[in-house]
Amino acid sequence: MMDTDLFVAWFEESSRLIRRERDRLTRLDAAIGDADHGTNLDRGFSEVCKALADDPPGSASEVLTTAGTILIRRVGGAAGPLYGSLFRQMGRALRESPVTLAGFAAAFEDGVVAIERLGKATPGDKTMVDALTPASRALALAVRDGVGVHEALVKAADAALEGAKATIPMQAKKGRASYLGQRSIGHEDPGAASAALLLEALASVAG
Ligand code: ADP
Ligand code: MG
Ligand code: MG
Repeated sequence: MMDTDLFVAWFEESSRLIRRERDRLTRLDAAIGDADHGTNLDRGFSEVCKALADDPPGSASEVLTTAGTILIRRVGGAAGPLYGSLFRQMGRALRESPVTLAGFAAAFEDGVVAIERLGKATPGDKTMVDALTPASRALALAVRDGVGVHEALVKAADAALEGAKATIPMQAKKGRASYLGQRSIGHEDPGAASAALLLEALASVAG
């Protein structure tokens, strides 16, 4: 079971990992974008943590809705609205608190669909979707196989990291990096890298 505190801890740990990896994320974005991904997310996730501390939410759904709303309002660029939609959609989908692994996996899948709908990206376009989709698939398989929460989240994090690394040889079809055409090949997508951090954070706090 995943309780409200676990979801708050997810955003705190995400914020910590993003702060730690901020310069790497920005360097990845400097190579194929506009060098703001690390700073955008660092600011956004800090604001999420502040909001969660100032006004403690009463359910997992509320944590996710608050986080998503702040990311949409306060983070410019592509990633703020995209991650914001992921979390807001998850908040809408989660009706239970505490949350079961099956409920979480279904909400996460809904969230990834919301990102795909908003950004019109599909797997292989060299975006965050390339890390999020394998994570969603890993969660669904873990539910099918009756795996425990922590093991399932570790599998999802591993799949996201692998998905992020797999963006290196891809040519970007969406977002700023797509303006580079073939010159986007050979660099890891910054949004896929940050998505892998979010999954790593969740596995870590659920351990
Ligand atoms: P911006 O490109 O506006 O500066 P960020 O640097 O914060 O925004 O985020 C860039 C990341 O957003 C990319 O690395 C990619 O993963 C993701 N992204 C951009 N456009 C899309 C899209 N249409 N669909 C999905 N993800 C996208
Ligand atoms: Mg950018
Ligand atoms: Mg930008």
